[in-house]
Amino acid sequence: MASKISEVLGNAAAIAKGLTVTFKEMMAPTITEDYPAAPAKFQERFRGVHVLQRDESGLEKCVACFLCAAACPVQCIYIEAAENTATKRMSGGERFAEVYNIDYSRCIFCGFCVEACPTDAVTHGHGFEIASYNTSTLIYRKEQMLTQITAAAKPVVPLAEGAGH
Ligand code: SF4
Ligand code: SF4
Repeated sequence: MASKISEVLGNAAAIAKGLTVTFKEMMAPTITEDYPAAPAKFQERFRGVHVLQRDESGLEKCVACFLCAAACPVQCIYIEAAENTATKRMSGGERFAEVYNIDYSRCIFCGFCVEACPTDAVTHGHGFEIASYNTSTLIYRKEQMLTQITAAAKPVVPLAEGAGH
């Protein structure tokens, strides 16, 4: 009999504990994202559409080493490398990525490419509105991901035509 009473009391305590959480949450202010009427909010470390970075001179940080492509578990990064020349310098290294595509129909936003990059050229931005009925539009090209040259950037070498796009 004593064990039955303690069991009932134990269950009642558990229910009371659960209801305490319920009532506490009912009284708390409602946090509702108003997206798309208001911009979505992200944690700083959110992994969205990639951004290809430039250095302080405006040159592309990517030196076409292919380490990001090698680290990608779904092989969704496609790169074509080209040599920098005296008249066409795009990056600070010997080579630059003439073509740099990421296929977002396959990317799982794991961040391995960002981890693998030795020059911090590829990073995650906060872009996320990439849904499409046409998967061909999910292949993002370098020109879509490359940061624009800022007014603060001071190119130390002449940039080839089109480098700012
Ligand atoms: S985030 Fe992951 S899946 Fe996407 S491109 Fe980078 S390594 Fe590949
Ligand atoms: S983004 Fe980084 S890892 Fe990928 S090819 Fe360019 S420099 Fe190498």
